[in-house]
Amino acid sequence: MPPKTDSAIPPGGVIGILGGGQLGRMTALAAARLGYSAHIFAPEADTPASQVTANVTQAEYTDTAALKAFAASVDAVTLEFENVPVSALETLAAIVPMRPGAACLAAAQDRLVEKRFLESVGAGVAPYQPVDSADDIRRALQSLGAPIIVKTRRFGYDGKGQVRVETADAADAAWRDLGEAPSIAEGFIGFEREISVIAARDIHGRTAAYPPVENIHENHILRTTLAPAQNLGPLAVEAESMAMRAMDALDMVGLLAVEMFVTPDGRLLANEMAPRPHNSGHWTMDAATTCQFEQLTRAVMGLPLGDPSPTAMAEMHNLLGDESDNWPELLADPGVALHLYGKGEARPGRKMGHWNRRTGPVPNTKSG
Ligand code: AMP
Repeated sequence: MPPKTDSAIPPGGVIGILGGGQLGRMTALAAARLGYSAHIFAPEADTPASQVTANVTQAEYTDTAALKAFAASVDAVTLEFENVPVSALETLAAIVPMRPGAACLAAAQDRLVEKRFLESVGAGVAPYQPVDSADDIRRALQSLGAPIIVKTRRFGYDGKGQVRVETADAADAAWRDLGEAPSIAEGFIGFEREISVIAARDIHGRTAAYPPVENIHENHILRTTLAPAQNLGPLAVEAESMAMRAMDALDMVGLLAVEMFVTPDGRLLANEMAPRPHNSGHWTMDAATTCQFEQLTRAVMGLPLGDPSPTAMAEMHNLLGDESDNWPELLADPGVALHLYGKGEARPGRKMGHWNRRTGPVPNTKSG
């Protein structure tokens, strides 16, 4: 029997989460606040998410028997991690509501498919070309103009699977660095700033968006988010509507985060999207009426969406690597809301936690 999709799953139900990282941990905690329990499905043992839940399946995403048993033990499934095979979502969707569905994941996990999809919903994107050889990199340098950024179509994150190429001489080495994997070349955007927007869509197709935020990256890793982004003018509404159009086009239930560049001439270019909670939405835990993890839970469990309005201006700082050792100083400041992910090894650049601070009253979010 196909899963029932049009009614609320009452508190007491179980939300299944694919992936065991911090996004799953914070979703499980928000779900618990609404009276749900979470069941984590992840290949690794002792994950940030499994530490806060009683129900854990440790299995590969290709283990069909484990997926089917997991599906039978939960009321709906979501994901906190994109590099899950689309076939796993299809297996689950035959048994239990899968939110977001396989088509949403397919559109987001391949950068070439993603770019074409974003263009199809009217978003501007950086000029790009598919790359399947070192010769393609040389051709892209010619047609897009140097420098270019070449990114693997799949499995990239936090700047991994990305090379900046300045000259044709560097093409062979760049192709090797990318592991000769199918890639895309993008023209380099001299952006003024980077923003992102997170929208939610419920089982009835109603949407709600958080205001766009400004993101500051260091070595391709998110360092700081300033929320809401100031002085965006009409781009604020344009960014929100872009995310909502993308969700409608995919008939998506859950959250969609879209990262964008603001160009010096005042255009928005969509860079990438993620069908899940997003690091740039962590400020909502301490400075929005409904945090992104509760919003995801509401959407997935068929509840009405909550109010995404900010309750304060806020900043979010990631704790990378051994920066999390600074917890005593952070906690000594009563204005700091500290969130640690329970990860053991503080490898350089690894996201170990984050902290939020409210910085003042919200001016006027719509007109920026
Ligand atoms: P991504 O993995 O696509 O999110 O890229 C990581 C970061 O690299 C972005 O947040 C930007 O700071 C930078 N970046 C990515 N693509 C471009 C581009 N086409 N032009 C300029 N900077 C880029």
